[in-house]
Amino acid sequence: MTEPLVYPPYFRPPEFACKCGCGLNRTQPELLNFLHLLRSSAGYPVHVISGTRCRTHNARVCGSRTSRHLEGFAADVICPYLPVPVFLLHIFNLYPKHIQAVGFTKDAQSIHLAYQPVRRIFYRISRQHSYNFLKEPR
Ligand SMILES: [Zn+2]
Repeated sequence: MTEPLVYPPYFRPPEFACKCGCGLNRTQPELLNFLHLLRSSAGYPVHVISGTRCRTHNARVCGSRTSRHLEGFAADVICPYLPVPVFLLHIFNLYPKHIQAVGFTKDAQSIHLAYQPVRRIFYRISRQHSYNFLKEPR
């Protein structure tokens, strides 16, 4: 478990820690960089609902066994101050370079973002996400 050296000014490490209380935080710098860009372009607070998950917690919330949350490459986020379509536009504007999976979480209350360090043409979003906006990320 290594924490990145620098968190962007808008985010605090506890936001990214496993929500079961175990304290696990594997958040990857690439994800933080993306969230920093996203937060800056949105101009409004972006809250992390779910960051890193330990295996136990991931199983409890019915996460995929290969969930990007396990390695700290995924975050479920909300921006309470922007309409969802506007928030998504900001995400899509940044999307091509930085993030390779976007979808609503199962409860449709937040937006799942996953950073994929290995370049892939296709990314199959896990079953827990009800909708995949972009099936052919570049
Ligand atoms: Zn945990």
